[in-house]
Amino acid sequence: MIEVPGDMLEGGGQILRMSVAISAAAKKPIRVVNIRAKRKPPGLRPQHLTAIKSVASLSGAKVEGLSVGSMSIEFTPSTPRGGDFRFDIGTAGSTTLILQALIPAALYAQKPTTIEIRGGTNNPWAPPIDYLNLVMLPTLSRMGVNASVSLLRRGFYPRGGGVIRARINPVKSLKPIKLVEGGGVKRVFGLSYSCRLPDHIARRMASVASKLIESAGYPEPEIELEVLQPNHPKCSPDPGCGIVLVAELENGALLGADALGEKGKPAERVGEEAAQLLVEQLETGAAVDKHMGDQLIVYMSLAKGRSEIRVSELTLHTLTCIELSKLLLGVEFEVDGEEGGPVTISCEGVGLENPQ
Ligand code: ATP
Repeated sequence: MIEVPGDMLEGGGQILRMSVAISAAAKKPIRVVNIRAKRKPPGLRPQHLTAIKSVASLSGAKVEGLSVGSMSIEFTPSTPRGGDFRFDIGTAGSTTLILQALIPAALYAQKPTTIEIRGGTNNPWAPPIDYLNLVMLPTLSRMGVNASVSLLRRGFYPRGGGVIRARINPVKSLKPIKLVEGGGVKRVFGLSYSCRLPDHIARRMASVASKLIESAGYPEPEIELEVLQPNHPKCSPDPGCGIVLVAELENGALLGADALGEKGKPAERVGEEAAQLLVEQLETGAAVDKHMGDQLIVYMSLAKGRSEIRVSELTLHTLTCIELSKLLLGVEFEVDGEEGGPVTISCEGVGLENPQ
């Protein structure tokens, strides 16, 4: 059983999610200790509990230490089976972070996995569901991942109540990814959404974002508006809004940037935040945004062959995933760049094969 220090580097929920994901995919038993020791309160929160339970159901794993507040777990996987699952986080905890743990394991299952998850769909400090659909899944499809996610209802803080449904097909093995030279920006697109708020909010977020991007010299963005009121089945129980922007580069690479509305924060500021983040990332000339940077590490580690990505910013989350891949899979990375700056990351994946 490999012991994972849950307090290393970032010391948050991601180490735990990535540990169980790799453990289930590669059938390696693990013990994670000092879980989320750098967060307040430390230990498992409902979102992390649901993530572990969903990966455990999929992989027939035996788990010890599963309760809110627990600081250590033992996860002993069996063969990932796949199948149909339904989970309710019970809070506004992020549904997309559950998928972050589940997708790598589901790729090595015997049959396709379908899962319906209830919770938050657009949360701070987590990928918005729209980022999954517009950036993450299309990027992973380059590695042979065949997965889709549909949004049945949005869910925001405090009650959540959002519903997403995902389908993940198994792979034989993952292909390596090369996203280094992006070339110029071919187009910019996105989605500006709101629930239970005046109709002008989504338009104002989009309009400020468009102006800022154009004035930075990039193509005029095509931003779709989604304005949901309570009579719409996709409308969330609580009010909320946000914007996701995507730049498509000449080589097809997709860089994302997003921002979420908050009570008291003007719509214009939300649009500006996302647009500024996109422009800053584009100015680095990278082909991968900082969030995709940390999320790709596990897939690069499992892939068959050499992957290389140029990322707009080396984050502590990314360094954490790299350390974890070294520990659990023995993958060596080359990291050419400093924390906080643009970076090129490459590695030779272990070439994990799905025996089915
Ligand atoms: P904790 O509560 O312990 O901090 P957590 O479980 O909420 O942890 P983190 O460890 O902070 O999660 O990991 C968050 C994950 O969500 C990372 O993979 C990060 O890249 C991703 N993420 C965060 N914000 C965004 C965003 N705005 N867009 C896309 N991805 C995001």
